[in-house]
Amino acid sequence: MDLLLRLYEDSKRGGTCTACGAALDWYETLKGNNMPMNAGAVPRKSETHPETGRVVVFFAADDTHWTTCPQRDLFRSPKAAS
Ligand SMILES: [Zn+2]
Repeated sequence: MDLLLRLYEDSKRGGTCTACGAALDWYETLKGNNMPMNAGAVPRKSETHPETGRVVVFFAADDTHWTTCPQRDLFRSPKAAS
């Protein structure tokens, strides 16, 4: 999958997954949502946002912890699971 997520580099902060305990790096998306990336995931590229001047890093969507967490079913809404 080549879908890339755009995240603000300066929003990075460490954390752990509440479901499986894995180390995470939380980032803020351009829309202001929080996105858990697997710790150690490497951005594919980066650029400066033309309006905010903040550095935006591009991560593969497959590097989100939601994709790889062994407990990822817990993140899905009950409606989607039915
Ligand atoms: Zn997890």
